[in-house]
Amino acid sequence: MNRQDYDRAVGDAKVIQKEWRQVPAPRRGELIRIFGNKLRERLQELGEGVTKESKKILVEGIGEVQEVVDMCDFAVGLSRQLYGLTMPSERANHRLQEMWNPLGVIGVITAFNFPVAPWGWNFCLAIVCGNSVVWKPSPKTMQVSHLCKEVFDSAVAEFGGEWNDLLKIVDGGNETAEWLADDGRISLLSATGSTAMGKALAPRIGARLGRALYELGGNNAMVVSQHANLDLAVRAIVFSAVGTCGQRCTTLRRLIVHESVYDDLIERLKKSYSSLPIGDPMDRKNLVGPLIEQAAVDRMQSALASARELGYQVHGGDVIEGCYVKPAIVEATEQSTLVQTETFAPILYAMKYTELEQAIEIQNDVPQGLSSCIFTDNIQEAETFISSVGSDCGIVNINIGPSGAEIGGAFGGEKDTGGGRESGSDAWKQYMRRSTVTVNYGRELPLAQGITFDV
Ligand code: NAD
Repeated sequence: MNRQDYDRAVGDAKVIQKEWRQVPAPRRGELIRIFGNKLRERLQELGEGVTKESKKILVEGIGEVQEVVDMCDFAVGLSRQLYGLTMPSERANHRLQEMWNPLGVIGVITAFNFPVAPWGWNFCLAIVCGNSVVWKPSPKTMQVSHLCKEVFDSAVAEFGGEWNDLLKIVDGGNETAEWLADDGRISLLSATGSTAMGKALAPRIGARLGRALYELGGNNAMVVSQHANLDLAVRAIVFSAVGTCGQRCTTLRRLIVHESVYDDLIERLKKSYSSLPIGDPMDRKNLVGPLIEQAAVDRMQSALASARELGYQVHGGDVIEGCYVKPAIVEATEQSTLVQTETFAPILYAMKYTELEQAIEIQNDVPQGLSSCIFTDNIQEAETFISSVGSDCGIVNINIGPSGAEIGGAFGGEKDTGGGRESGSDAWKQYMRRSTVTVNYGRELPLAQGITFDV
């Protein structure tokens, strides 16, 4: 997309938003209700679209689209619940209240590994909140993005009116993302991708004091205590570490295991890993598809070579053919810079601990802060892990792996993950402008703080 086309797209989105903000919120929800139903009808086709480009297995591709369907339901309900607080005024005959009004044009940048769900988290909220959306998908997953636009246009046709410009797609790579970052017409830029991308765009958005919401890289851990149910833990580890071929922002990358159960757990994992069905992601019998591209295979192999140089024991990790790889378990003797780095591939670094305090310290000692979990049946350990001295992540789970969040909660993470929150809970507030409103319905003009100013 050239600059002219980009400018036209953002201009169109700005014009339509001025109209859309005047449509009552429950009516805006109606458009999302219809959109959700259209997605339901085309779930299989869209899921296949996700799988074709992102290479995740089909059940995960369909699951990702289901997440947008769920998000539509959430947003429809929300369209009748954009509540503002009313506070007691300190002045007689005054009302103090906050109102939530639409924000403007929302820019959305997305990554290849989740080509539709994070867009859906943003889009559904943005639309019911009275905004329009300009979406820059990953250049690796353009087709499924345009398929989503086609489905949205069919919802607009049923809804009635010329609302197609509420969603504009701007094709392109880094340059298009930079245009969005620099563009004062973009009221909020929601950017999903690597921490490097966030760090490249943040100064540009900051230079115009723009609003941003970052959903960046993760380096997620599981603590397995001596009080854990190991059967549950093994199932959770295998899904979280090898699902999506290790290409989820919430993929389990670090395993912090109590020394008393370490050997047993590693043996069980090696056994599970040895029978993983790896192959064509469209074939339902496979649980692991390929990495996205050759460069990702090279990065994985280079990380494994560094692990060997550091003296770590590496199990698996071989290239099968093309971009198909065997997931790896790496027994790391310490949390080195290598372990602290997000390599976007199925590499699971395993480490031992003795005391819970030490396990929490290891869990927190990485630049990223997305998702974390502990497996334990001990209530003190579980409560400590979610407390003020526990995990520093945005997502903290007990007896559940770090990946596969539900849309009802706010999704996102701390530190190098960027601090953003999307999807459920009160994430919608970021897509609105909060006005603090004071109404004087009396016959006098008392000033706040008891100030007298009589001339
Ligand atoms: P990526 O950073 O390469 O690309 C993401 C998006 O940003 C793409 O649209 C791309 O065109 C754009 N982009 C990339 N580098 C840029 C730059 N320097 N300047 C401007 N734009 C740039 O990420 P990816 O490989 O597509 O996805 C994998 C990464 O995304 C992982 O780090 C993963 O953890 C992260 N991710 C995070 C979340 C989350 O919710 N926290 C979700 C999915 C993926």
